[in-house]
Amino acid sequence: MTVVDRGTAHWQKLDADHHWHPFTNTKALNQKGARVIVRGEGVYLWDSEGNRILDGMAGLWCVNLGYGRTELAEAAAAQFATLPFYNTFFQTTHTPAVELAHLIASVTPGDLNHVFFASSGSEAVDTALRMARAYWVVAGKPSKTWVIGRKNAYHGSTLAGASLSGMSGMWKYGAPLVPDIAHIAQPYWYGEADAAETDPEAFGLARARLLEAKILELGAENVAAFIGEPIQGAGGVIVPPASYWPEIERICRKYDVLLIADEVICGFGRTGSWFGSQTFGITPDIMTMAKGLSSGYLPISAVAVGNRVADELINGGGEFTHGFTYSGHPVSAAVAKRTIEILRDEKIIERVHDDIGPYFQERLRTLEDHPLVGKVDGVGLIAGIALVASKSPKRFFEKGDEVGLICRDHCFAEGLVMRAVGSRMVCAPPLIISRDEVDELVRLARRCFDLTLRDVG
Ligand code: PLP
Repeated sequence: MTVVDRGTAHWQKLDADHHWHPFTNTKALNQKGARVIVRGEGVYLWDSEGNRILDGMAGLWCVNLGYGRTELAEAAAAQFATLPFYNTFFQTTHTPAVELAHLIASVTPGDLNHVFFASSGSEAVDTALRMARAYWVVAGKPSKTWVIGRKNAYHGSTLAGASLSGMSGMWKYGAPLVPDIAHIAQPYWYGEADAAETDPEAFGLARARLLEAKILELGAENVAAFIGEPIQGAGGVIVPPASYWPEIERICRKYDVLLIADEVICGFGRTGSWFGSQTFGITPDIMTMAKGLSSGYLPISAVAVGNRVADELINGGGEFTHGFTYSGHPVSAAVAKRTIEILRDEKIIERVHDDIGPYFQERLRTLEDHPLVGKVDGVGLIAGIALVASKSPKRFFEKGDEVGLICRDHCFAEGLVMRAVGSRMVCAPPLIISRDEVDELVRLARRCFDLTLRDVG
C-alpha cells in the first residue's frame, strides 16, 4: 500500500499523535497538519496530494545531487549485501571507510590528511571541539581551552553544538552549557554595519579584529580555537566581505589559535569550490563536514584534520578516547564515496563555479527591484534575501520573523521551498539545477514576494 492510497489525513493524524518534529512548534503544526512528502526527482518533490514543489533548499542544504540518483541506491545496495556493518574501533577497518577517507583527503585544502568519521554535523562539531582541546593538552599547553565562535552561528544541536552556536534561542533552556566558549559579533554588513561603515571590506576587517580583541581579553595562552562557517547558513546565509576570512586566519596564526572551519553546509560544492574555505582563501587546521558528503542520502559526517594536529594526537597522544558506533559506517561511506565520485567525474562543482552559480546569483539579483527585497547576498548556489519594510532609508520589519514566515508559507503553497530565517529568505537548491529551473525558482519567488507584500504592505 502506498502512502498516497492511505490519504493525507490519515498520515497527518498519525504524525500529530506520535511524531515529535525537530525545530518545530509541534503544537501549532499539529493544528494544521504537516505536509506529507512522498517522492523526489531531480530538484522536485511531490506531496501526498500530488502537488509538485521545487526544492530550493536541497532538502536541508544537503541533497546536492538532487533526488533519484540510482547510482547512490546501487552503491548502498551493493554494500548492504557485502558488509552492512562493522566497527572500526578494535584493530579493524573496512574498504568503504578507507576509500572515503582517502577521497576526502584528496579534495580538502592544505594537509587535512586525517579523517575521523561520525554520523551527523553535530557529532562532527563535538569531535572537532574535543580534538582541539585534546591537542593542546598533548602539546603541553593545557590552559588553552577556550573556543571562540560567532553570534548567529549554527554548529548543531548536541550540547557542544548548541554551546558553540551563537543563537540565543538555543540557550533558552538555560545553563550549564559547555564551559569556556565565547562568541564575537558576526560579519553581517547589510544588517549590522552602522551608517558610518559604508565600506564592506573595512567592516569585514573590523569584525575579524573582534577575534583579536577577544583573544587578548581571554589571554592567548587560554584560547584553543576559533570556529566558523565560511558562510553562516542557518543564520540566514551571511556572506562575509572578502576581507574577513584572511584576517581571521592571520589572527589565528599570530596567536597560535587553531582554525576550525565548519563546512557542514558549504562543503562539497555549494559555494563553487569543494569547500567554502577555498572560496574564501583560507586553510583551516580542522574541518567539519556532513550533509553534502553523501548528498543527504544517508547520515554520515567527517572531521578532516591537518598534519600538525593529527601528528601530535596520533603519535603523541596515545588512544583518543572518542568515537561513535557508526563512525565510518560502511553503507554510508560507500554512498559518500559514490557521491564524491559523481561530483568529481561529472564536473558538477566546476559547473557551479563557472556557469549555474553565476547564473543563479544574477537571476536572483533581478529581485532587488522588488519593493520587499533589500539585498540579495550569495555565492555559488547559496543565497540569502533580506526582506525590508523600506529600502531607502533602510528599515527592517519590526516583526521580521512573522514576515519571513508569511513569505515561507506563500512559497510552500505556490510550489517552492525557501526557508525563512527571521526576515531573510534563504535558498540553496540542488547543485544539478538547470537554467530553466533557476528561472522557475526566481519567477515563483517574485510571485511569493508579491503575495507577502499584499499581506504586510
Ligand atoms: N554545522 C553547521 C554549519 C550546520 O549547518 C549544521 C546543520 O545544519 C550542523 C553543524 C549540524 O548538523 P546536523 O544537523 O547534521 O547535526
